[in-house]
Amino acid sequence: MGIISNKINQLQESATLAMTKKSRELKAQGKDIINLSIGEPDFNTPEFIKDSAIEAIKQNYTHYTPVPGYLELREAIVKKLKRDNNLNYKASQIVVSTGAKQSLSNVFFSILNPDEEVIIPAPYWVSYADMVQLAEGIPVIIQTEIIHDFKVTAQEIRNAITPKTKAFIFSSPCNPTGTVYSKKELRAIADVFKENPNIIVISDEIYEHINFDSQHESIAQFDDIKDQVVIINGVSKGFAMTGWRLGFSAGNQEITNACVKLQGQTTSGTNSIAQRAAITAFEAIPKENTEIADMVAAFQKRRDLFISLLNEIPGFKTNVPEGAFYLFPNVEAFFGKTDGNITIKTATDLVMYLLDEALVALVTGDAFGDPNCIRFSYATSTNNLKLAASRIKEACAKLK
Ligand code: PMP
Ligand code: GLU
Repeated sequence: MGIISNKINQLQESATLAMTKKSRELKAQGKDIINLSIGEPDFNTPEFIKDSAIEAIKQNYTHYTPVPGYLELREAIVKKLKRDNNLNYKASQIVVSTGAKQSLSNVFFSILNPDEEVIIPAPYWVSYADMVQLAEGIPVIIQTEIIHDFKVTAQEIRNAITPKTKAFIFSSPCNPTGTVYSKKELRAIADVFKENPNIIVISDEIYEHINFDSQHESIAQFDDIKDQVVIINGVSKGFAMTGWRLGFSAGNQEITNACVKLQGQTTSGTNSIAQRAAITAFEAIPKENTEIADMVAAFQKRRDLFISLLNEIPGFKTNVPEGAFYLFPNVEAFFGKTDGNITIKTATDLVMYLLDEALVALVTGDAFGDPNCIRFSYATSTNNLKLAASRIKEACAKLK
């Protein structure tokens, strides 16, 4: 019998974090790696948010906090949900956690019994399926296509439902595809859950503010299913606060209570200083705040730049993502090609080839449930993007 549990032995390492670790190691060895693997803003946290954290330390916000977060923070989130999303929640329906990642994990562990199914449209964010399995649930994957902008339809969800279906999870804007669902599309999906009132809808809205073409729409806006929905959100992406580790869930009271119970036995209340800073973040109106609006505008420019650069390299078939900061091109055209030494058989082979030959770190689509694609994060400077594209072009030209 080994020391490590079967559960953890079977758990895969997060592919995004693994690639970032690898890229850090290669950099430390003196290699000039351009890291397009990690999904985080390259911008620093805005000054006004940092100032409130400094003030929090000075004012001795240094003690344990209530398990679901300071009431003042939960009230700021309630106001944010009303102001930005026209959603009515009570502070008792909010749980603040150590990142959206923990909020997701709280929800899966709170609702899943062994062998209950969670429907996940692919491409999906790297940790959903692993978290479901860790909580002894079964991920049920619906494959979507680049030609349909990687969108799942209501009918496809209906077809995937079984008596064991416990939940459905998706992100809009989506990581890794940047896909944004319209209100009409969300209404059609909501109809499926109106017909199935026992299924929980987990709506990951962490990229809410990184949406270039439209107003953010939450599936929780439909009153006939609102009580089945748990929203996941946080400060990591929209406020460039990935390292602060603060996210939240908002929704169904019973699930919220279970998450608080679980969190009370695992991590307790989130870091007190990050919570005080998050109050300031949620009180800001992102579209009216220059630091945040400038960051989002920069992402949009980089998206346009990187799409045009990638379009100059034969073999990458990409769509135009409306949000987040990723491109997720189909790379099947490279399969079977060789530089005379290495043959590209899979997306992972291409990612490893580009790491070695172009010194560009990317993530294979396998990690997101699509083995024909690879993910580029364009949350880096335009100079880095130009350099990465020219190195990739040169490396790909060697593949015949
Ligand atoms: N959901 C998605 C779709 C993400 O891309 C991320 C980024 N890691 C998370 C959740 C987790 O975010 P956090 O940094 O708040 O844990
Ligand atoms: N969301 C980011 C990504 O997808 C962060 C890494 C992670 O937490 O997996 O790259």
